[in-house]
Amino acid sequence: MTPERFTGSFTQQEPIPEEGIEAAVAVLRHGRLHRYNTAPGEVAEAALLEEEFAELTGAKYALAVASGGYALGCALRAVGLKPGEPVLTNAFTLAPVPGAIAAAGGRPVFVEVTDNLVLDFVHLEQQAKASGARILMLSHMRGHLCDMEALVALCDRLGVTIIEDCAHTMGAAWKGVPSGRHGLVACYSTQTYKHANSGEGGFLISDDAQVMARAIVLSGSYMLYSRHRAAPGPEVFESIRLETPNVSGRMDNLRAAILRPQLRTLPDRVARWNALYREMEAGLANTHGLRLTHRPEEETYVASSFQFLLPGWSPTRIGAFLARTGARGVELKWFGAPDPVAFTSRYDHWAYAPSTPLPQTDRILAELIDMRLPLTFSVEDAAQIARIIRAEVLAVGQADEADLQAEALNVKLPD
Ligand SMILES: *Cc1c(COP(=O)(O)O)cnc(C)c1O
Repeated sequence: MTPERFTGSFTQQEPIPEEGIEAAVAVLRHGRLHRYNTAPGEVAEAALLEEEFAELTGAKYALAVASGGYALGCALRAVGLKPGEPVLTNAFTLAPVPGAIAAAGGRPVFVEVTDNLVLDFVHLEQQAKASGARILMLSHMRGHLCDMEALVALCDRLGVTIIEDCAHTMGAAWKGVPSGRHGLVACYSTQTYKHANSGEGGFLISDDAQVMARAIVLSGSYMLYSRHRAAPGPEVFESIRLETPNVSGRMDNLRAAILRPQLRTLPDRVARWNALYREMEAGLANTHGLRLTHRPEEETYVASSFQFLLPGWSPTRIGAFLARTGARGVELKWFGAPDPVAFTSRYDHWAYAPSTPLPQTDRILAELIDMRLPLTFSVEDAAQIARIIRAEVLAVGQADEADLQAEALNVKLPD
């Protein structure tokens, strides 16, 4: 019998909702794509989107911007990052995070992560004290939330301001508090592979009037900030409007039009992602050689991706596993590769951000397998993918290392 093969696409997204397409066409027809280009009495799609995003998250203020990476850099500038200043961040994250820190003139200081893929608080405290950093850019990488209450208490004690990178946690919560509502500022991405899709785009939220006023001027509002609705009053801008540089990164009305209906249907997407996740989790439970990450009860996750560990596996064994699952149509990413591959890279690859080795993170990333869960998958697809992974973990886990080495010479790893 030939082994079953998955034939779906790991990168195919759902279409934009009809309502979004119609709204986008209306913007194209009237031609006022720039957010400050409005007809008399008209409220821009971008301003309405911000109002709706503030309501969704419960934040006082929201700003829509050109990308998630832009939001991160804007947040750093808005909280007053100084040239060369250290910024704490997770050692397990994606390239836009250290990139945003470096681009804003900061210096990333990497913090170890735990087996459950969240920030290690003991190391955070050590790194904060050693570097004197007063900012933490917290990456909720792959949607794993750390104990947010404990983190806030620790950062208060250390005098560290939290900026949250919620690129993977739009719609998630810790003890019912939406992700992004614990830090001073939170940043989101609406890039195609995140939880709402406008191709490119992002948000910043905050309850702090000064920080938000600076973010709005930074984003390129010129002196048109009073056109914003989810924004502090004009009096807050008086003291900052001339001293804050314009670093253009606005959201436009076309993308805003596409996004507005998607905000309304976020809860439905969250439920569908989590159904896929639970199917994967059930299918991989008690697989010898494979460890699932623990999801705490306090965490409401949005599982747009799935991670598991292959503890103690050699690179050869992992390479054989990736080749075999790839041959059966299951596209997995590995964070242990010596060179960056596609979207996947590691803290020690980012040569512009010098780091010292982090043994705990190194061990975890060498064992960590990562997978997308697009909403175009059905629950049956997730069940089939889990069956294929389980079968190959069991087969490769028991195979002889020398046989796997021989096998490696005959196959090419998927990229
Ligand atoms: C995607 C992503 C970003 C940046 O978002 P863009 O909109 O692509 O700039 C930041 N952080 C993480 C963890 C991401 O995955």
